Amino acid sequence: MHYSEYFMITHQLQRQPSARWLVRNGRIFDGNDGRTTDAGRSILVDHGVIGWIGPDAEAPPVDIVIDAAAGTIMPGLINSHVHLANDGAADLGAQVRSDSTATAAYRAAANALITLNAGITTVKDCGAADNVVIDLGRAIDTGIVPGPRVVAAGRVITMTGGHCYFMGVEADGVDAVRTAVRGQLKEGASFIKAMATGGVLTSEVKPTQTALLREELAVIVQEAHNAGRRVSTHAIGREGIENAILAGVDTIEHGFHLDAALFDLALDRGTYLVPTLAAIGNIVAEGANGTIPSWIVDKARAEEDRSISMFRAAVEAGVNIAAGTDAGTPFNPHDGLVDEIIAMVRIGLTPARALLSATRDGAVNAGLHATTGTLEVGKAADLIIVDGDPLEDITALRAIRFVAKAGTVYRNDLALQA
Ligand SMILES: [Zn+2]
Repeated sequence: MHYSEYFMITHQLQRQPSARWLVRNGRIFDGNDGRTTDAGRSILVDHGVIGWIGPDAEAPPVDIVIDAAAGTIMPGLINSHVHLANDGAADLGAQVRSDSTATAAYRAAANALITLNAGITTVKDCGAADNVVIDLGRAIDTGIVPGPRVVAAGRVITMTGGHCYFMGVEADGVDAVRTAVRGQLKEGASFIKAMATGGVLTSEVKPTQTALLREELAVIVQEAHNAGRRVSTHAIGREGIENAILAGVDTIEHGFHLDAALFDLALDRGTYLVPTLAAIGNIVAEGANGTIPSWIVDKARAEEDRSISMFRAAVEAGVNIAAGTDAGTPFNPHDGLVDEIIAMVRIGLTPARALLSATRDGAVNAGLHATTGTLEVGKAADLIIVDGDPLEDITALRAIRFVAKAGTVYRNDLALQA
């Protein structure tokens, strides 16, 4: 095919998300059961939605056909923990404090495009100042700027002086946290992020210290669930994690001090874990270069061994895991989810569970399972194509050839047949 023709069709796919197109000659990892089919399968995309899935020989005739070249067609990836308004600066808090709202919005838009090009079609944004990322999600949905589906918490809810207070609503006591949750829902938050412990990136608090109390967390959960929204808690220390699970939160972020008793509790309650291995790993790796404030590096080093040993134990215990990187924190890029998935496999998660944690289970954790996370007729055409079979070699995920979100093609290195 002549380049100009190729360009024209690619352009047409990008501008006409309602077009019918077919991807053929692929293996399919549909995200339902952790298996990949043999090659020779097709998926029809019709008006942004998956219209048909089946063998190539039975595919309906359409004008635009993409050849998957026996690669694997799989759901678009889901990063369950990002900060789109931050780009990996050495000191996240300093960046948040010095950015104007407009600058933070430009950063968020730029990071949204990096995210999408990396095959990530949905993100859960776990906190930003002002309404920057809530607004970005709306701008993406209305086609103003390209980006992934954004499920945004808005500002985090934290105790006075607590973790990330510089991008949060500070609230103390059950009445104040109730008002804070209602305020965030009014602003358009898709879920609530609350701080159950201190953290690494706030100089005034220790990661393991208990922050919002169990009764405060219970009110946060009550208000969010009344509105049909889920609750994620930043939780590193054991007491804070226990408070959060017993309060009924849906997701523990980080969770480094989870132990056997808390795994049982999480399994009993169906609580998800987003382990964010990259959040600690990237700070420790970059720490020797002297660019990150030493108080951040020291706190990350203190949690590194636990973050890995806890994750290995969580895998053995069978805890629900959703893949998330904490992208936007120091030296933690928005295209790093594949590295997180590979790291999880190296520590002990099977490739099938690792892929599910970044597709189906990420969608459940984001409250979007009816829309995305698996390849099924009627769901949004959020799909990527990678070379080879990631179940046999997880590093196949590094070779992403094609990215579509809701039927709109954002990236294509594959041959088109018109
Ligand atoms: Zn975070």
